[in-house]
Amino acid sequence: MHMTRALYPGTFDPIHNGHIDIATRASALFEEVVVAVYDAPPKKLLFTTQERVDLAQQALTHLPNVSVIAYTGLTVTVAREIGTKVIVRGLRSVADFEYERQMGWANQDLAPEIELCCLLCTGDYASLSATILKEVASLGGDFHRWTPDHVQAALESKFPRAEALSPSRMLSRSAGKLGHRS
Ligand code: ADP
Repeated sequence: MHMTRALYPGTFDPIHNGHIDIATRASALFEEVVVAVYDAPPKKLLFTTQERVDLAQQALTHLPNVSVIAYTGLTVTVAREIGTKVIVRGLRSVADFEYERQMGWANQDLAPEIELCCLLCTGDYASLSATILKEVASLGGDFHRWTPDHVQAALESKFPRAEALSPSRMLSRSAGKLGHRS
């Protein structure tokens, strides 16, 4: 029987409990899961690639068949390089589905031997996104239920609490809806 290795790619900026749920469930389905942290996604990042890899590694140490790597370039190229036939992704919503459908089509065209395996997000963190997590963290909200402790500490070091709660800083922030005052 072939060893089934799955690749779980993403930005993981930073890893949170929703990602950990998918990695945990994938680790029960596949003999080996490689979490692949995308080096340069077309979006603004809070954490460096090394920080994202370190945070993910620490969050997943309890899963012996899960490892973490960083990667650049096409996901299917990395999948081929490490001999993976399955790409795992999490599906939260119809919006996720539409994105995964398009990406899945491109990947299938580029690498027909690689299958996409979407796991439905369930449970307490099914609506959590790294974007909301970072916004709440930046505004000094209590997000400890959404991440492991070491990720909480890393986020707090990026957004020192006193600074985040300062009224002048709140008023000077232009981005984000959670901090919006009309
Ligand atoms: P990307 O930028 O590639 O979407 P993310 O780090 O945002 O990277 O997400 C990586 C994967 O984890 C995606 O498949 C995404 O759907 C999934 N995911 C994101 N948030 C959650 C969540 N709350 N629960 C389960 N899976 C999630």
